[in-house]
Amino acid sequence: MPSDPVDPAAPVLVINAGSSSLKYQLVRADTGQSLATGLIERIGLDDGRARHTVDGTDHVTEQEVRDHAAAFDLLTAQFADHGPDLREAAPGAVGHRVVHGGAKFASTVRIDDEVLQTLRRLVPLAPLHNPGNIAGIEVALETFPDLPQVAVFDTAFHQTMPAAAFTYAVPLAWRQTLNIRRYGFHGTSHAYVSRRTAELLGRPLEDTNVVVLHLGNGASSCAVEGGRSVDTSMGLTPLEGLVMGTRPGDLDPGLPAHLSRVSGLTLPEFDHALNKESGLKGLAGDSDFRAIEQRRADGDEEATLAFDVVVQQLVRHLGSSALVLGRLDAVAFTAGIGENSAELRAAVLQRAGLLGIELDADANATARGETRISTTDSAVAAFVVPTNEEWEIAREAMQLLAHS
Ligand code: ADP
Repeated sequence: MPSDPVDPAAPVLVINAGSSSLKYQLVRADTGQSLATGLIERIGLDDGRARHTVDGTDHVTEQEVRDHAAAFDLLTAQFADHGPDLREAAPGAVGHRVVHGGAKFASTVRIDDEVLQTLRRLVPLAPLHNPGNIAGIEVALETFPDLPQVAVFDTAFHQTMPAAAFTYAVPLAWRQTLNIRRYGFHGTSHAYVSRRTAELLGRPLEDTNVVVLHLGNGASSCAVEGGRSVDTSMGLTPLEGLVMGTRPGDLDPGLPAHLSRVSGLTLPEFDHALNKESGLKGLAGDSDFRAIEQRRADGDEEATLAFDVVVQQLVRHLGSSALVLGRLDAVAFTAGIGENSAELRAAVLQRAGLLGIELDADANATARGETRISTTDSAVAAFVVPTNEEWEIAREAMQLLAHS
């Protein structure tokens, strides 16, 4: 395909379409400057809500948003009403976040009919996430027919994992014919944060080993060796690994059979409970970490146990990731909890002395934005590094277009 000339300063319209929400950002790939952000929620319901933010001002609209096509109509209306004018801003590409790229997509791709077909075939691997992503792509192709559209996968960064790290010890037939393996997620965040961490350390990325702890509603750790993912805590699905808002993280694989025998639980019920009713919610009835912290401060036992379980699981994964790397230069905390919970970071790092990490309690307690939270004597550094998946997606999109 003949390539159009790419203006590296052109912004990218980054789209993160879920089954009932659409997040977007118009962002410059070269500087990360955000020109507008927006969130359209409750798609498919009669009480939809849209927020469009420009220059720090929120513009909120409440109206029915029937489907993804209506959501994109609202998106273009928001830009027309509140700016920036999309014709003047002249985005160079639309960058779509896609959760699961399977083993097929090891890097960012330009979207065409064949890519869309493959994405539809991958839906069984991420039935909760990929259909919304695909719906967003389909409508975006109609809404912006003249713009190149690019898919950036949460899984792609982890395609560098060695077989020993991505292979489950399960029957050969499952692995060979059903693609059962560890894929890992949050790759865009792990890529961005590990690169920023190397920059903050003043070391070349190729010679920097980092464990990234992405702790949001979803949470995963990643062992990054010289800029390449070599191990990660999430697996075939985003359920495995760390304790999350409503997902349990690591479990005994014997649990479904046991529950089916003793309580007649069906597979769909089990699936629902593990996706929506477990994690912090299962432990303390609340999936929001701020509420857990507040209740813990008030002496609530369930919230205290929930906090301790989260920390225990993080310590396990941090320790094993460090050993997988062999040499550790830094640990980076990111996403809603990682960036904001000084208590959680302290609780984890106070148990990481064995790794050579010495916490700077004051720096940790007052950290805002990118901050070193280990002492200057600490053999291994620790940082808070706010993630920026939209900028990473924009960079990926423009890099692909510049080289195609
Ligand atoms: P998502 O995975 O949905 O993008 P986020 O990265 O936004 O999630 O993280 C959401 C989590 O971050 C929630 O559990 C929320 O309570 C937590 N969080 C946000 N701000 C704070 C804060 N100031 N202190 C502790 N936790 C916070």
